[in-house]
Amino acid sequence: MNVLVINCGSSSVKYQVLNPDKDELLCKGLIELSGDTSTFSYTRTGSEKMSKTVPLADHTAGVKMILETITDPEIGCISDIKEIGAVGHRMVHGGEDFAASVLVDEDVMKKCEINSELAPLHNPANIAGVRACQAVMPDVPMALVFDTAFHQTMEPEAYLYAIPYEYYEKFKVRKYGFHGTSHLFVSQEAAKVLGKKPEEVKIITCHIGNGGSCAAVEYGKCVDTSMGLTPLEGLIMGTRSGDLDPAVITFLMSKLNISAEEVLDILNKKSGLLGITGISNDMRFIDEAAAKGNDRACVALKMFARRVKGYIGNYLAQMNGADAIVFTAGVGENDAEMREMICKNMENLGIHFDAEKNAKKETVFSTDDSAVKLLLIPTNEELVIARDTARLAAEAVK
Ligand code: ADP
Repeated sequence: MNVLVINCGSSSVKYQVLNPDKDELLCKGLIELSGDTSTFSYTRTGSEKMSKTVPLADHTAGVKMILETITDPEIGCISDIKEIGAVGHRMVHGGEDFAASVLVDEDVMKKCEINSELAPLHNPANIAGVRACQAVMPDVPMALVFDTAFHQTMEPEAYLYAIPYEYYEKFKVRKYGFHGTSHLFVSQEAAKVLGKKPEEVKIITCHIGNGGSCAAVEYGKCVDTSMGLTPLEGLIMGTRSGDLDPAVITFLMSKLNISAEEVLDILNKKSGLLGITGISNDMRFIDEAAAKGNDRACVALKMFARRVKGYIGNYLAQMNGADAIVFTAGVGENDAEMREMICKNMENLGIHFDAEKNAKKETVFSTDDSAVKLLLIPTNEELVIARDTARLAAEAVK
């Protein structure tokens, strides 16, 4: 079955058509919505990428254009829309309602709308994507795949914050965790590399991109993760601070005479690598600046690595060791120097880094005698979405 995977942002639509039975990507593309000057890009597997500026009023217009393009007699990747068996949507926040992917119905959508309160920047856009597809292809089954679902196996001692319990009961204030599809995918792939089943191994996954999080995956289940109620907690990211003393918020409010929302905006959008260096949120520019001796870039890299190391140490202690530590996403997959900064000097924990294998981007970049294996595994969140969607759609017609 071919699956159209849709990942909607407030002003963007990322899409792919995949056949999860064959792990095959048929096409992918991105729409950036901006009224009359929206951009539409499309790459059919094996062909050149095409991009154009087009007027697109909203998500629905964007989805219509995707369908026209993928079925176009000349450039399309399928010949008829009937070849799309199901649509899989990324939904960022499932709250406590969803511990697994689900087929779309109105009850499910109502719960997603309520959970928008927990992810006001993400869920409304994801919902707009579902509504747009329903308008254009009303008879095609659709599924939601949640960023939070994989982390729902955490125990209360991992997900509760040490604040009055009534705030959890009344407002569901707790750690949820994100990037779940990625942590699930790479932890399962890691088990394959180790020649074991996911239920037999303990894995620490480090998804380090522009956003980043670590997870402790014990015998196939997530037992802890670094992001929290929102994606602000945990690692240092491109523009997000990650962990900090919450008293910084009121201190800055009073010093700068600004509101809590304004401080939160600073912590989400002007902090992290960008905030420390004043250069960029993109690790490539920080690496460049550090190579030229820029002090703030050098300290930012050290801070970044130290935070990841800290979570690795935390999860090694929580799980009483691990079989492997996995690196994935933009920085984790591409930045050999950052992997080295994180993984070196942990020999006493059974982690033996191999510089040569790391530089060559080998899947296993620890030494042969390393008790804990270091793994480089590219993530594929769209494939997880397509697999879950195809499975749910097939079950529905049984
Ligand atoms: P997200 O999905 O969170 O937006 P990605 O996983 O695509 O992010 O990662 C994007 C980030 O990966 C970029 O911001 C950049 O910092 C980093 N990145 C990509 N390639 C490299 C590279 N060769 N070296 C260092 N960092 C890289």
